[in-house]
Amino acid sequence: MTVEIREYVEQYPGQTPLPLRAELAAAIQDLKRSRGAVILAHNYQLPEIQDLADYLGDSLELSRKAAATEANMIVFCGVHFMAQTAKILSPQRLVLLPDPAAGCPMADMINPSQLAAFRAKYPGRPVVAYVNTTAEVKADSDICCTSANSVRVVESLPDDEVLFIPDRYLAEWTQKQTGKRIIGYPGFCPTHIPLTLEMIQEARAEHPQAVVMCHPECRPEVSEAADVVASTSGMLRAARERPDKEFVIATEWGLACRMAKDDPAKRFYVFPDAVCPNMKRITLPKLLASLQDTIGEIEIPPEVLEQARGAVERMLAVV
Ligand code: SF4
Repeated sequence: MTVEIREYVEQYPGQTPLPLRAELAAAIQDLKRSRGAVILAHNYQLPEIQDLADYLGDSLELSRKAAATEANMIVFCGVHFMAQTAKILSPQRLVLLPDPAAGCPMADMINPSQLAAFRAKYPGRPVVAYVNTTAEVKADSDICCTSANSVRVVESLPDDEVLFIPDRYLAEWTQKQTGKRIIGYPGFCPTHIPLTLEMIQEARAEHPQAVVMCHPECRPEVSEAADVVASTSGMLRAARERPDKEFVIATEWGLACRMAKDDPAKRFYVFPDAVCPNMKRITLPKLLASLQDTIGEIEIPPEVLEQARGAVERMLAVV
């Protein structure tokens, strides 16, 4: 069952009570200026956080912003691996994750010893690591990718066979686009795999005029049934550019908040259970406390950071 995002978000219980929002937002803006901070936020964040972001985007866009910023401090509203990536690209800056417990279960599905065992099983192939990995795993990988550039990254490699970690479904989808053999690690995103083909079919029956868009972390049968399979930035672009008026958004529902704000004349239907509880841990009171008391500093051992930076920078060099 889908719900229209504007109607759904009004009742979502995880947000800051309305009377407090303006006051907290003003305090955050003041502190941000006085501390010389920049706020980067992922497209899956709560609308109250999206509204305060200096830059809102997907992992690739935010990595580029983190690399280019001249701010003293980066406050990253997202999950742990994203804040780590910002630190990897801006090691001289203070990087804060307002809730240090905002992790990513997919990123935790592979650690360096599991990666070593995976490499040993398939020797001689390069390892492409989705950015949804820890800094330690990135450090042991050859190149990173995001869902926005996985096809370009894999095509940039001279090898016909590559190892891809940790998301099996992004690996499978990327293989179909590139024609290369991709050996995927059996990880997955717990927010995307509950979306089933039946749910997509029901949504089409409910909204026959709607364009169905999904993220490549979805199951293959869901991707095959969708009209558009893309990263969050790709879906956002498609929603802006297409003349259609209705869209079913099969990914974390935070993205649809941004789409609805961008284009109030269009209607966006989401699956309310497609929520990433970790992304939703970042709230206005936590963002304020983080800026005030320097909560959630990201620290990475220098040798890990240096090695991980190689894999991230090789990704950024792929156009
Ligand atoms: S949506 Fe999935 S992959 Fe993204 S942070 Fe949440 S659990 Fe991780």
